[in-house]
Amino acid sequence: MMQLNGKTALVTGSGSGIGRAIACRFASEGASVIVTDVQEAGIEVARAIGGLFLQADLSSRDETRELGRRALQEAGKIDILVNNAGLQYISPVDAFPDPEWVRLLQIMLTAPFQLTKAVIPGMKERGWGRIVNLASIHGLVASPYKSAYIAAKHGLVGLTKTTALEVGAYGITVNAVCPGYVNTPLVQNQVQDQARTLNLSESAVIEEVMLGPIAIKRLVEPEEVARIALFLVSEGAQSITGSTLTIDGGWTAR
Ligand code: NAD
Repeated sequence: MMQLNGKTALVTGSGSGIGRAIACRFASEGASVIVTDVQEAGIEVARAIGGLFLQADLSSRDETRELGRRALQEAGKIDILVNNAGLQYISPVDAFPDPEWVRLLQIMLTAPFQLTKAVIPGMKERGWGRIVNLASIHGLVASPYKSAYIAAKHGLVGLTKTTALEVGAYGITVNAVCPGYVNTPLVQNQVQDQARTLNLSESAVIEEVMLGPIAIKRLVEPEEVARIALFLVSEGAQSITGSTLTIDGGWTAR
């Protein structure tokens, strides 16, 4: 028996990395998945899993609102929302460009808020819903040069907790997943950026900056995060809400 038969999931940023792994894992458990991304890479993912692709740029408030409307119209309902789309921008705070601050906050905090608003009324009516927010270990602790990312992820953890309190009585759970460094294009690009900003070699960025503080000396794989997301939307997790689940190889154990 597949765990997600009859469920419809909307997974943002599912053209790549963690979002793609979650979309594939949910589809393999029987869910109908709406793949959405700003990149057309999402078309291939949707084709591979028999899902629907909706292209949207979450840096636009209007496009995000329209995505929520179209997803509900096309699928008829959204049982599971995964707010996953994200990106990084590395800069000292005093040189951080205002437009990048606004863009990161829109994509990683305001868009999840907008999509949460869009799906909750239907979830309440059906008495069942699951929202999984891809925060980060940087939703709980900070590192230098990532002010917008870290502010957005801390905000997303706050949104997770508040929404969980408001909708728990309706059979809806809302949780945040907080990975450390995951082996995806987002991290691969960051290695080059950090090497430049910190004046280190790329291997030193991986060994010292990324793996230095953690007990398990390897990057997390996207499929590991997808398995945790699957657990959070399963019946076994029906009493888990408002939580932040770390997948960080021991980073925050210090
Ligand atoms: P990724 O770059 O592989 O995938 C991110 C996806 O988001 C891409 O497909 C991209 O096109 C999409 N996206 C970016 N901007 C968008 C926009 N304006 N509109 C719509 N889609 C957009 O990265 P990933 O590592 O899979 O990251 C997924 C999520 O996990 C992000 O929220 C990230 O912050 C979080 N996360 C990643 C790591 C990590 O180490 N990789 C760690 C903790 C948290």
